[in-house]
Amino acid sequence: MPPQDLANDQRAALDARHLIHPWTDFREQPVLILEEGNGVHVRDSNGHRMIDGIGGMWCVNIGYGRKEMAQAIAAQAEKLCYYSPFGFLSNTPSIELAAKLASYAPGDLTRVFFTTGGSTAVDTAMRLASFYFNVTGRPGKRHIITRDLAYHGSTHLSASLSGKPSDRGLIDLVEGTIHHISAPNPYRRPEGVSAEAFLDQKVQELEDKILELGSENVACFIAEPILASGGVIVPPAGYHSRTLEVCRRHDVLYISDEVVTGFGRNGAIFASEPVYGIVPDMITCAKGLTSGYVPLGAVMVSDRLYRQIAETTEGRIFANGFTYSSHPVACAAGLKNLEIMEREGICAHVREVGPYFQAALKPLMDSPIVGDVRGSHLMACVEYVSDKNARTVPPQAWQIAQRIIRETMPRGLMVRPMGSMVIMSPPLIITRAEIDELVAILREATEVVTEQLRQEGLL
Ligand code: PMP
Repeated sequence: MPPQDLANDQRAALDARHLIHPWTDFREQPVLILEEGNGVHVRDSNGHRMIDGIGGMWCVNIGYGRKEMAQAIAAQAEKLCYYSPFGFLSNTPSIELAAKLASYAPGDLTRVFFTTGGSTAVDTAMRLASFYFNVTGRPGKRHIITRDLAYHGSTHLSASLSGKPSDRGLIDLVEGTIHHISAPNPYRRPEGVSAEAFLDQKVQELEDKILELGSENVACFIAEPILASGGVIVPPAGYHSRTLEVCRRHDVLYISDEVVTGFGRNGAIFASEPVYGIVPDMITCAKGLTSGYVPLGAVMVSDRLYRQIAETTEGRIFANGFTYSSHPVACAAGLKNLEIMEREGICAHVREVGPYFQAALKPLMDSPIVGDVRGSHLMACVEYVSDKNARTVPPQAWQIAQRIIRETMPRGLMVRPMGSMVIMSPPLIITRAEIDELVAILREATEVVTEQLRQEGLL
């Protein structure tokens, strides 16, 4: 019997027996099988429909069930499903998508390297920085600065750049050349430190780290404009431009990881320049590039950097690439995705509903267990606490975010539980009415969980 004809519990049993999930808990877990999606909604294998407050995984930006996307993917698969992109070989969708991305890119970031996703985009950016300094005669510049609470991927190198404590400790990482500075988290600003002093400290910390390592030894600084998986941490205004300035002063490359913030989530195709006022040396992106319909990532590279490399390589090859770099089907999906975003004015829609979303969530601050509600445009986080005044992270045993999602799901909302936080990044086509529904469900779930905690004597 083909798997789709199996009963729900039989499929769950096969899942438990054979399928290893990302971030797997090796104990047997119940699974929820998602069957279909339409617009901002997904439906599970029991037929239960929910607003997808997660947007898949910050990625289904144009929403589910777009026939045009399916058709573009099918047409390219039929025409030329694949050919190696190595060396002199190329294909039309990747050429067209590279040119299209270049037209949106800030500054001179007009050179594009396609990858298989965000992690391989981050790896490629790091390896290109390394190649750049080696061929331009500065081989000492091999150290990388990143931040606590960052998430940059799940390959050996990109995972080593990540800084979430929960992801570290049990798998070996790159050692010696990767350095973490603290995340600019305004919610954790120490008492007695003004907002201005806090910003100054965070910027100074980067400069101090460069000076400690010696600028002749530092290749690059990598930063998400908003630390996404780390808890939607929005740095204070001025942080981006001032850290870029520090990098420029010390000849350190600035790599902006826009895997989440790109493709409309912050109201622009690339948020770095229009939203955060910076033109970095490279931008990594993925997710919304195809709205998750098929895997694809990219690195946008400064033309200045590219030319400097070209002038010095003397034929030495940048030995980095993937079988599925420039994948024609994925690039065809990327082109169609951008066509839809343009035609429907999705970035403008986000600039309009984004502030509405943030404002609608803010009143959750009234709850005794909500410490912070933060975000920008269509990415948001509700951080739960056990003591509001002391901003105390609830004990693990509370399973706070898990409790919240257990209450939102039956009411028709998926959100992403993350430690003591609930994270949201709905499809960008979400309407005000759907935002109202999302917030109402989250509020109700928060109230129910508050009552549970009271009854259990935990609050
Ligand atoms: N960078 C950031 C900022 C991310 O959020 C992610 C994935 N969530 C990645 C890189 C890695 O992307 P991928 O999972 O496509 O490899």
